[in-house]
Amino acid sequence: MLPEILALAGRTLAADAYSVWQYDDATGIWSVGARVGLSDEYVAAAMTAIRGNTATVSLDAPIVAEDIERTAWLTPEHRKAHAAEGTRSMMALPLHYGERVLGTLVVYYGETRSFSESEKSTAMLLANLAAAAIGTAELYQAQRRLAEDHRFVAEASELLASSLDYKTTLSNLATLAVPRFADWCAIDMVGDDGSIHRLTVAHVDPEKVRWAQDLADQYPPDTSAPYGVPNVIRTQEPELFREIPDDLLREATADTPELHAILEALGLKSSMCVPLVARGRALGAITFVSAESGRRYEEADLATAQDLARRAAISVDNARLFREAEGSRREAQESLAVVDAVFAAAPVGLAFMDTSFRYVRVNEALAAINGLPSEEHSGRTLRDVLGEDLASEIEPLHRQVLESGEPILDLYVEQALPTAPGETRNWLVGYYPVLDADENKIGVGVVITDVSEREQARAAAERAGARLAVLAEASQTLASTLDYESTLASLASLLVPRFADWYAVDIVDENGLFRRLAVVHSDPAKSEWAEKSRDLYPPDLEEDEGTGRAVRTGEAVLYQTISDELLASSTKDAAHNEILHQLGMASAMVVPLTAAGRTFGGLMLVSSDPARLYDEDDLEFAKHLGRRAAVAVDNARLYRAAEERARAAIVVEHVADGVLLVDQDEIIRLWNPAAEHITGLAAPETVGRSTAEVFSPWKTIAELAKRGDPRPETQPVEINGRELWLSITGVGFEGGTVFAFRDLTAERAVEKLKSDFVSTVSHELRTPLAAIYGAALTLRREDVPLGEPQRMGLLEVIASESDRLARIVNDILWASRLESGTMQTTIQKCDGVAIARSVVDAARHYIPPSIELAIKAPKKAPLVAADPDKARQVLTNLVDNAVKYSPDGGRVIVEITVEGPQLRYAVHDDGLGVPPAEHRRIFEKFYRLDPDLTRGVGGTGLGLYISRGLLERMGGRIWVESSGTGGSTFLAELPIAAD
Ligand code: ADP
Repeated sequence: MLPEILALAGRTLAADAYSVWQYDDATGIWSVGARVGLSDEYVAAAMTAIRGNTATVSLDAPIVAEDIERTAWLTPEHRKAHAAEGTRSMMALPLHYGERVLGTLVVYYGETRSFSESEKSTAMLLANLAAAAIGTAELYQAQRRLAEDHRFVAEASELLASSLDYKTTLSNLATLAVPRFADWCAIDMVGDDGSIHRLTVAHVDPEKVRWAQDLADQYPPDTSAPYGVPNVIRTQEPELFREIPDDLLREATADTPELHAILEALGLKSSMCVPLVARGRALGAITFVSAESGRRYEEADLATAQDLARRAAISVDNARLFREAEGSRREAQESLAVVDAVFAAAPVGLAFMDTSFRYVRVNEALAAINGLPSEEHSGRTLRDVLGEDLASEIEPLHRQVLESGEPILDLYVEQALPTAPGETRNWLVGYYPVLDADENKIGVGVVITDVSEREQARAAAERAGARLAVLAEASQTLASTLDYESTLASLASLLVPRFADWYAVDIVDENGLFRRLAVVHSDPAKSEWAEKSRDLYPPDLEEDEGTGRAVRTGEAVLYQTISDELLASSTKDAAHNEILHQLGMASAMVVPLTAAGRTFGGLMLVSSDPARLYDEDDLEFAKHLGRRAAVAVDNARLYRAAEERARAAIVVEHVADGVLLVDQDEIIRLWNPAAEHITGLAAPETVGRSTAEVFSPWKTIAELAKRGDPRPETQPVEINGRELWLSITGVGFEGGTVFAFRDLTAERAVEKLKSDFVSTVSHELRTPLAAIYGAALTLRREDVPLGEPQRMGLLEVIASESDRLARIVNDILWASRLESGTMQTTIQKCDGVAIARSVVDAARHYIPPSIELAIKAPKKAPLVAADPDKARQVLTNLVDNAVKYSPDGGRVIVEITVEGPQLRYAVHDDGLGVPPAEHRRIFEKFYRLDPDLTRGVGGTGLGLYISRGLLERMGGRIWVESSGTGGSTFLAELPIAAD
């Protein structure tokens, strides 16, 4: 069209060059549509120049540039392009078509010139003609495209209706669209999970299709983008980009610049995206893109696209619906088949009866129950198949179900099979109404479940449970007492009549004879016979059957049925037979009572009811019972034995006498607590050791047992480093010897003390008495004339010895007072130093010249809280002792110091000293280091005892420091009086 316009212009306007510029109102872009006599360079330069031109030029009249070089509204670049092209003047004629400006028709001249009005109007005429032609052509083209598009839509619709395979259909649709409606067509679908995936891409070039698919895989669309497929699907609104502006491409590919280059190369021009919406749901979207065709989509195209999308969506939806319907139909068919199979093969009897009690269909299981092949059921009535009696029972039930419409469920029926009349079976039967699609009752469904096995299992389980319960109870009863005889008898209450009609327990005694412990019968009337059986006919070990056999062999015996012959052969005489007949013996079990490998009795359970015959299960139960009973009996026996032993052990544990058991190798095997107490040696230190290691000497003790004299003998023996006086007896037995001993050490010591005391006191008393007696005799002699001085001397002896006597008697008196707690003390504040001084001064009068006596005291000492008389007594004792036990003379010093809250007296001497082992004992009553007076120093052994007792009563204390030689220091303390 345009070249023809140019040719016409050439013929009428005689210019040097011609062109048609086209104007795109969508973009406002001017471009050269056709030209004659213009170079490519000019066209390119001019197009760029126009785009940069901001001057507004009226398009209502011809635009003239008579001297291009001087035309201000042309940009300098444009003017330069003209100069290069050699055009000096030009005239542009607007091409109006209706309201629209389609472009311009431009004529160019090589020289400057002015255009006359007639020239302009001729040119305008031509331009108007051209515009009309172009406009019409566009219209025509649009028309044609519309028709084309309609045809495309029609074809597409046909295509969409052609198949229910929507995926293929949509792919075909895309192919159909290319290139007639678009250069590219892509279809995206929404998956069940809401994700978007590309179904197809179409382009005329398959190479490009592959490429586009790769692109789509590589660059999945951004689902949150405000445009594009995801947006269309989300909003269900179409998108139209008449022009795809570069900005949009750039924005869309901001994160992937390489993609931008690719899209740019594709030369995308215009695009539309329309949603596939059916029943309010977006199923996907179709995208149409124009590129190389240069087609620009307009509203009308969008409408076409939407129309197409609607049809496509409906088609997809229909296809899906159909598929779903198809699926459920197939499922229904399949499930019908399953139901059929289940019906046929179910292990439960199933039948369908019509309303007139005729079988319509039965399964194999029901056919088997009825004893008639399944195919022979249909058409027959209940009466035909089951007979009059049964039918009259069942028909009312069917009627009830049909009338009420309510099922009858779990009807328990016990019935013999028609095929096997002897065998009763248990059934659970259910009847339920069968309705057709319109809820009409069309018959009765029958379900019959054979629960015979279940029933039997339940009954068996119940029996087993009962047995277990009895066993548990029996165990408890058996364990509850250790008196086994009564326990075995009491088992009867558990077993009779639940498991036996009567029951007998027999025990073999030491002589191998049976003793019938218990016979219990469920029927009290039979107890007389039971007693007779017990008293007259206990079993014997030699008998072939019964308890004798079980006990002899140690094996349980089951007599499931007892024939008269068996009974007769195992009874001793007619009377015995009669007794057993009376008690009744239909079935019996005998189990041995065996424990620790020894069978000591038997337990017999008898049923006199022919309906209750014992079987292997019952025997097993009886064996269990027997075992438990036997163990209980054995435990009872063991317990008794253990108890006896334990009692003996307790006695040994608790006797006050030491008991030791020595085996044949003279090893100590038992050492009781009393032995521990007496010897100070714990059992673990002695048990397992040889006697000689513990007792020294052992020989004399060992001989005691050999002598065979049970009378005890007192022996000194060294044990654990101590000398003990033991009164011992020993008795031998097969495994060794038992010795019992009693500690007499203390008694011995007391004995000795007593004798020592008697000897010392008598010695102590005898000396002054002899002196007094001698002096008195001399005074009385008349034959010996005595001078006054002699007489005075003798009287002095009497006085001083009397004083000594008095002191001894005093000591004894004080000691006994201390002992009985009748010693009186009067505590008061007194001067402890003054007391000591007076004692020392008094002593000076009688000390031998070999002793040097001194006192060291602080100038000022605090008062003490004490009884002054008693304090004096203590100090006198200490000073006396210091002097007395310094037979070789020496210094005796009384030193007084203040030690904290105490006033301390230290009495030093250079005498005999006290060995450390005796430091404690010298303060005991009567204790003397030298009781035999080997050193010739006498005494009662009471002085220190009294001193200690007095000091303790005054809140003080006394002790000795001495290495045993080279003198000693006795220390006494008294509390200092409070202010
Ligand atoms: P006795 O009347 O025997 O002296 P005591 O009770 O006063 O009685 O003393 C007990 C024993 O303590 C004395 O027999 C003696 O062996 C020993 N004894 C007491 N004082 C001294 C001492 N100063 N030096 C050595 N031995 C002492």
